[in-house]
Amino acid sequence: MTRVLIVPLTRPYVVDYLDVWSSSVRDSLYSAGLGLDILVWPSVLKPPMDCFVWRRVQYLSSCLLRWLYSCLSRDFVEDYVVGVGYLDAFERGLNFVFGEASPSLRTAIVCTRRLDPRFYGGRPDFNLYVERVSKEIVHELGHLLGLEHCVNRECVMSFSNSVYDVDVKTRFFCKNCIKKLKRE
Ligand SMILES: [Zn+2]
Ligand SMILES: [Zn+2]
Repeated sequence: MTRVLIVPLTRPYVVDYLDVWSSSVRDSLYSAGLGLDILVWPSVLKPPMDCFVWRRVQYLSSCLLRWLYSCLSRDFVEDYVVGVGYLDAFERGLNFVFGEASPSLRTAIVCTRRLDPRFYGGRPDFNLYVERVSKEIVHELGHLLGLEHCVNRECVMSFSNSVYDVDVKTRFFCKNCIKKLKRE
C-alpha cells in the first residue's frame, strides 16, 4: 500500500499535533475512497539555514522541498512525503506560501506560521490552527496525487490566498476532485 510520511520540521506547534493531523488526513483520504497509510516520522528534521533568506526572514519553499526530498528519497521511493513546520516561507513571485508540492519529487511541505491566528495579532486558537493545518496537508497531498486547484471554494483543493480562504474551505475533496483522483 502506498504510504504518506508526515515529517515534523520543527518541534513547537507541530510535534504535539502530529497524531491529530495524521488521523484527520487519513479521514479525508478515506472519505475520498483512498486508503493510504499515514505514518509519522519519529524525529524532527531541522531545515538547513541554506534555505533561509535573511533579507526576507523567510525560508525559500522550493529549497525546503528539494532538501526534504534529498533527506528521505533513498528510503521512501514509492511513498509520499509531507514536511510540516512552524515556519514562514515564500516562493519566487509570491510573498508567502502556506505550502508547496512537487509531484515529480513526491514531496510537499506545509509552512504553518501564517496559519496561526497569533501571526495576525489574534488570540491563540489552537483548534483553529490545527484545523487549518489539516486542510493544507490534505491540499498539498492532493497535488501530489495529481490534482490541480479547484473552483469549488469548499473543496480542499481550492486555492487559498489568505487564511480567510483556508477557513472557507473544508478538509474534504469535492465530488469532481474525487472523480479525478479515481482516474489517476
Ligand atoms: Zn495548491
Ligand atoms: Zn474540488
